[in-house]
This record gives sequence, structure tokens and C-alpha cells, in this order.
Amino acid sequence: MSANNETVKDLKKKLFYSKKNGVLKVDDETVKKAEEYAEGYKKFLDNAKTEREAVKAAIKMAEEKGFKEFEADAKYSSGDKFYINNRGKAVAFVVVGEESVESGVNITAAHIDSPRLDLKPNPLYEELDLALLKTHYYGGIRKYQWTAVPLALHGVFANKDGSVLEISLGEEDDEPKFVVNDLLPHLATEQNKRTLGEGIKGEELNVLIGSYPFKADDASELVKLNILKLLNEKYGIVEEDFLSAELEMVPAYRAVDIGFDRSMIGAYGQDDRVCAYPAFTALLDIVSPQKTAIVILADKEETGSEGNTGLNSDFLRFMIYDLAKMQNGDGTVALRNSRCLSADVNAGIDPTFQDAFERRNASMLNYGVVVTKYTGARGKSSTSDASAEYVASIRAMLDNAGIVWQTGELGKVDNGGGGTVAMYIANLGIDVVDLGVPVLSMHAPFETTAKLDVYMCYRTMYEFMK
Ligand code: MN
Ligand code: MN
Repeated sequence: MSANNETVKDLKKKLFYSKKNGVLKVDDETVKKAEEYAEGYKKFLDNAKTEREAVKAAIKMAEEKGFKEFEADAKYSSGDKFYINNRGKAVAFVVVGEESVESGVNITAAHIDSPRLDLKPNPLYEELDLALLKTHYYGGIRKYQWTAVPLALHGVFANKDGSVLEISLGEEDDEPKFVVNDLLPHLATEQNKRTLGEGIKGEELNVLIGSYPFKADDASELVKLNILKLLNEKYGIVEEDFLSAELEMVPAYRAVDIGFDRSMIGAYGQDDRVCAYPAFTALLDIVSPQKTAIVILADKEETGSEGNTGLNSDFLRFMIYDLAKMQNGDGTVALRNSRCLSADVNAGIDPTFQDAFERRNASMLNYGVVVTKYTGARGKSSTSDASAEYVASIRAMLDNAGIVWQTGELGKVDNGGGGTVAMYIANLGIDVVDLGVPVLSMHAPFETTAKLDVYMCYRTMYEFMK
């Protein structure tokens, strides 16, 4: 077979699947919109560093758009908007559709918990005239990344009388920060022999919180005493109150632009606020959807989705039952007819660490929102692996709306792996596929995303639920 060069070019254009940088595909107006959208996203990141804060911040924004708390015995009709708050740690936002719930709902599910250092129930101690806090890390972290960075304390003390005291300290410029210290290179000869994974061990993630001793003759634990005195004056707590607290150390810095061209965002907790924010802001912009639209912001994804605020609980199932019931419909039928986007991040290929990825199937920054058909590890273990038919329907939706998108796979085969909430939603008989934003340095205290991808995520969520 022979052909001239022009024919080859035409044939290639017709037959090849060619990837192209999204910035080259969209007009300047779209890039500008993406940059504007990123400003709101960065604010949300700064105000929502824990799942509890994310629930609060999202509800506040939703209430401003007319959402009200769900009432089981109320009658809702098309266009009504409400939210279901699960223990202040997970939340679902609902806009009632024109069609019945039984005919199926459109769900986007993202998670609002992120890797961090949780305080242990007995955290406070003094050693060598310094006061420290013991931590138990939450989610998959590379422990060495969490030393020598400024940390802020977030969380709650739950008191025996039922009251809850919220804490946020270290976010404002004039507030003190905290730190996990590391060994100096001069004395690290032994530590340097450890593997990178063991470079800092779990029990070495101890947070420095004070050094002034309480002035007294009694020589033991005076720094700890001084810290407890300060805590008692500021918060009214005693040491025993740590027993029923949820306190977390998170990076103390704010979301910023990255690059001379300001094309990217650097911040803590973008996995998975980079999908959570687009999902719920898209729903806030939806007026009267055909199908009932639901955005779930879930907790506990980073520890396996177990627990009553995670998506491996019956929280979602019972919620769909409740919604079907309010229209005298059948919840089981509703589940069977429903569709979902599991809105979670994928790992963008990093020029410095290309070896970990298979570049033909890796996602790239600025190439748009990533559709991840399957995750898992060791031969697709522990993944829902979306059906070709469902992926085709999402593909059609994205192309019809002119959304920049790509496919992604989490690294080379047998090079590790990971999972999302997709499989738990699939277990309910719902069609689901992972879709989200590519991230660099995922799970690090400072993660990087591209503004265009974040905006494409918003546009996808809007198209899916409208
Ligand atoms: Mn995630
Ligand atoms: Mn994650």
C-alpha cells in the first residue's frame, strides 16, 4: 500500500487518538474563567483544612444559595434544595429533580478528609525541658515530608456535658505554629542508612509545642504544667479532656499560585478538595435538574472509607431510601437507576519521576479532567472497573460539552496502586466511574494542581448533574 504524505496526514488525523495540552484547545476566555474560579477555590482551601471545617464552609455557601437542612417529614418538589449533615463530618447536598427519585439520581461523591497528623488520646508529654504532642498519622503519608514544616492545630474537644469546643490555632499570621523536628545532617549518619519510608518513623512524628517552664521549685514536668496552664486559661480544658477530642495537625500555610505564569495552585489538602469544591459549587449553580442531583462530601476516604461518616457505611444507601420514600417511591429501584461520578484525584505524571508512570496512560497537568476507569493494585484488585458502556456515556457528555478531558491510570502496573470510594458506590448497584483532577505530590503537605483542570472539573460536575 502506498500513499502520499497528505493522505498519511489526513488518515492520521482521522484514525489516531491524539492528546493535546488543554490550554492549546480552549480560548483565552476559558483560561481567564479558570483563573477566576481558582480564587474561590483557594479561599475554600484556606477555610476548610479538615472535614469538619469543609462541612461548615460548604453548608455556609449553600445556605447563602437557599439550601436548608433536610426535614424527614417535609414535602419537597422539583427545584427544592437541601442538605443532610452527617455528624458535622460528611454532608450531602440535594437539588430535587423534575423526574422522580425512583427514576434514578445523579450523584457526585468527593471526600473532604486529607492526610494529616492526628493527636493521640494521651498526647501531651515533657522531655528534656520541652513539651511535645504524640501523633498518629491519618491516611497515607510519606512521613519524612511532615518534619520541619509549620503546622496548625485544628479540631474539637468534646466535653462530658455535651458541649463541643472548636479549635483552630496557627492559621493567622500572628498566631503561633507548631513543628515536628528532624535531625541535622551533621548527625544523621545513622538515620541516613534507613530507607526513605523509614527515614522518619511513626513514633518520631512528635510535635513541639512549648519550652517555658512554670516558675516553681518543684523540678518535674514544669514545661508541661505551663502548657496546661495556658490551655486552661485559653480553652478551659484540663489534660483529661484530650481523651474525648479530635485534634489534628495540618500544614499552617495558605493556598498560593505556583509558577511565573500563575497557572497552578499549591496547597495542603487538594486531595480531594480539588474535586469536592467543583462538585458542590457546580450544584449551587444548578437551578432545576431533570434528575435529582446529589453531591456527597465524604469523610474517612483516606483511611479506607470505614466508619459512619465514610462511604463504606450505609449513609448513602439510607439517604437514597429516604429521598425515594418522601415521594412514595422505592429506594432499591432508585439505587438501580442511579449514576455516579466518584470525584477523586489521580496522580499527574511528574517530569522528575516519570519512571513510576506509564506515560501513554498517565494523566498530565493541563490536559483536563481525568477519567479513571479503574484503580486498584495487583491485577485490578479492589476496584470497581467502570463498564465500557458507562464510560462511553461520560465520554459523550464530556465531548458534547467541549470539556477538556483525558484518561488516567495510577502509575505503572505493579508499581503500587490505590483506591477511591468508587467500589463502595458500585456495591450499591450504581454505575460509577472515577473522575477528577491530576495532582503532583499527592498526599504531601503541599500538593500541586493546574487551574485549567480544576475548572474543567467544575464544568464536568455541572454537566453531569444539570
Ligand atoms: Mn482522594
Ligand atoms: Mn488520597
